[in-house]
Amino acid sequence: MKLLELKKVSKAYTSNIGEFKILDDVNLSLQNKENIFLFGPSGCGKSTLLNILAGLDYPDNGEIYFQNKIIKKKSLELVQKDLGIIFQDHYLISELNIFDNIKLKSNSHEEIKAILKYFELFDLKNKFPNQLSNGQKQRVCVARALVSKPKMLIADEPTSYLDRENADLVINLILMASKKFDISTVVASHDMSFQSKFDKSYTIDNKNLILC
Ligand code: ADP
Ligand code: MG
Repeated sequence: MKLLELKKVSKAYTSNIGEFKILDDVNLSLQNKENIFLFGPSGCGKSTLLNILAGLDYPDNGEIYFQNKIIKKKSLELVQKDLGIIFQDHYLISELNIFDNIKLKSNSHEEIKAILKYFELFDLKNKFPNQLSNGQKQRVCVARALVSKPKMLIADEPTSYLDRENADLVINLILMASKKFDISTVVASHDMSFQSKFDKSYTIDNKNLILC
């Protein structure tokens, strides 16, 4: 079943030197449980597309459908409930311990304990972000994004600041959790070594989305 669909989506940014079109007539459909990989050089529009998918930004033209219902600007909050997001930088709150960082996305202690155990983070629950390695921090972010079992996970370059071993671990955890909890994912990265792990991969070339 179709979870999310973009139809003829366009997006431009305006600056003092004029208008720059980033996406032009982009169509994309994400099925339930599907894992999509998005790659391309810096500046090609990956984050712009992910922000639109995540409801953090709205296109200039075109339509977004979530579970076959059209999403108007005002109802984007509905989508955000069904969504987990992971960014390049971890965005953990330094004053909160790991348990409380995950609690930002769930009020259920049972749910938080279960996800900490699933991601082998339980022993770190009382530590603070600055006491964790980069790999551990990003694992906490995956756990936080997935704790309330969203239907969809959007990850924007989640492995950029990680070494090879931790980068592989984070991508494998995302894909394992996607299978276990039936979560669709869209992951952007410039690291092509992940491409074969995904169901489909796209790049953005000259404002268009190209299936690779
Ligand atoms: P990527 O994630 O692939 O590196 P982005 O989607 O971040 O690419 O950016 C695409 C282009 O849009 C870049 O040229 C960037 O400078 C520009 N851009 C991104 N966000 C904004 C913004 N808020 N205002 C103006 N230009 C932007
Ligand atoms: Mg980006």
